[in-house]
Amino acid sequence: MSCRNIVLLGATGSIGQSACRVARELPGRVRVVGMSGFRNIGRLAVEANRLRPAALAVPDAAAEAELRAKLDYQPAAVFTGPAGLEQLARWEGADMVLVAIVGTGGLRPTFAALEAGKDIALASKEVLVVAGQLVMAAARRSGRRILPVDSEHNAIFQCLEGRDPGQVRRLILTASGGPFRAWPEDKLLAVTRQEALRHPTWHMGEKITIDSATLFNKGLEMIEARWLFDVEIARIDVVVHPQSIVHSMVEFVDGSVLAQMSHSDMRFPIQYALTWPDRLAGSLPPLEWASLGRLDFEEPRYDVFPALNLARQAAEQGGAAPAVLNAANEVAVVEFLAGRIAFPRIWQIVTSVLERCGDRPGGDLESLLASDLAARELAWAEARR
Ligand code: NDP
Ligand code: MG
Repeated sequence: MSCRNIVLLGATGSIGQSACRVARELPGRVRVVGMSGFRNIGRLAVEANRLRPAALAVPDAAAEAELRAKLDYQPAAVFTGPAGLEQLARWEGADMVLVAIVGTGGLRPTFAALEAGKDIALASKEVLVVAGQLVMAAARRSGRRILPVDSEHNAIFQCLEGRDPGQVRRLILTASGGPFRAWPEDKLLAVTRQEALRHPTWHMGEKITIDSATLFNKGLEMIEARWLFDVEIARIDVVVHPQSIVHSMVEFVDGSVLAQMSHSDMRFPIQYALTWPDRLAGSLPPLEWASLGRLDFEEPRYDVFPALNLARQAAEQGGAAPAVLNAANEVAVVEFLAGRIAFPRIWQIVTSVLERCGDRPGGDLESLLASDLAARELAWAEARR
């Protein structure tokens, strides 16, 4: 494989930082040619000074001035604003764009990158939850690939490679179960921000960590898998696996199951997406089988954590329902993190917003974004009641 030229959208986040490490460990194979940051301009400057990307993107002119003052080299371009993210996604020196912006901010840049003929390494699951059909159609039109970075989907991608989709019976997503996997239901009312942010197996950004605690993360991932692998939602199942060693599985029609395993470190799926189809030797540690001891699997508690059934219902309903679910969840997570609502209110708000506007039709990106906005407004109002 020759060197792959990559733009990192969300370079300052948890996934972005792991991607920078992967790039630093694979010089000559992965070259970072573009990076974006949002609030953390200091971090962006540190990483840019190390990897020296030609193009950068920040939210506004003040952030640009701060960035330039901290850079020890002269980049070819610094883009600003939401349009700047799209310009960066189209950067002519790039082959691939890693989308690792939290929430729906990655949507327009993903379309821009596909239109400009770039492959996508996709971490931001919200992009497929909101507009999976449109994104997959754009990828087909441009003849580009969407390589999954989310560990479950990267695992399934690895298990499916080279196989006939007609031989797949079901996809089985593993879930750690989050910090409250075994908690009694009545204790969930008093869950604090700190408790919810203490994930047992992964270190991630705040939004996805809360999503893991409510299991909305797994719900979003069911919808993400539906689009990535073109498998209907009824054939996508979830099993709780507290050790997070088996990252997901594919069951074939003969009953055989393939699983992908590694330590729970996002550099595994990031590296595979960035270097696919090659497997490169790096510094990632192998599994020590005897010291793993045991791997456990159990049924999710669907009654205590309604997120999985809500996501399945939204996927079956189709249209704008998944976008509505996603938007209501994003708002509810912000409200919980700000200390304004109790933990179970997150799924109560999503349930209520889905009931009130989940039947909006799908359509083009603009109408999906209009539904996203309508759902956000209902969710804000609901959270303040
Ligand atoms: P973080 O919160 O750690 O990072 C988010 C990134 O997005 C940062 O670079 C942040 O910039 C940037 N950002 C935030 N808001 C905006 C905005 N409005 N416009 C442009 N950029 C913005 O999140 P994670 O890295 O944890 O997650 C990123 C995505 O990857 C999410 O969609 C998540 O679901 C997905 N994912 C994450 C995994 C993980 O292990 N972390 C695993 C699987 C999927 P700044 O920090 O400078 O403000
Ligand atoms: Mg995941």
